[in-house]
Amino acid sequence: MPDFAEPLARLITEFKRLPGIGQKSAQRLAFHVLRASRDDAEHLAQAVLDVKDKLGLCSVCNNISESDLCLFCRDSTRDPKVVCVVEEPHNIVGIETTREYQGRYHVLHGALSPLDGIGPDRLKVQELLAQLQSSAAEEVILATNPTVEGEATALYLARLLKPFGLKLTRIAQGVPMGGDLEYADHVTLARAMAGRREI
Ligand SMILES: [Zn+2]
Repeated sequence: MPDFAEPLARLITEFKRLPGIGQKSAQRLAFHVLRASRDDAEHLAQAVLDVKDKLGLCSVCNNISESDLCLFCRDSTRDPKVVCVVEEPHNIVGIETTREYQGRYHVLHGALSPLDGIGPDRLKVQELLAQLQSSAAEEVILATNPTVEGEATALYLARLLKPFGLKLTRIAQGVPMGGDLEYADHVTLARAMAGRREI
């Protein structure tokens, strides 16, 4: 690494710890901050701190929230009979942009990954059971990611929740819109065939 003045080198090191940021991007960002006004730099620093200080987890669904209940749990127009289980809070953003879903959520904060030592106790599984027991939920949508870990998590939850007598559904997986079947890998295509529905 070239010789930078110590405070600049430190900022570059911090930026490099962010996902997707290499040495060059880190330098570019650090020099941007150096050139920015003190006000702008302060806004950036304060925004970073606020994310840590002012946000917590919703006491019901574990989504990120500024107050005890997140905006979905507070919203009485959202259907309490359906709970959509996702791995991470940002997955909610994706589902919300579809405007297709009007139910509640539960955030697991991860997925099962035995190789990384992540078992059910590291996820918000007990909290999910508590949420289901204290709510009017009739359907649970398992919307974990279509990865090995996400599939394992969905399977685990399906077994765990079976005795609750709820309707358990898994989000459909298949070929992406605008894609060509020729280019879909065989696992995706097999899923798409298995998950076909009548039209
Ligand atoms: Zn919530």
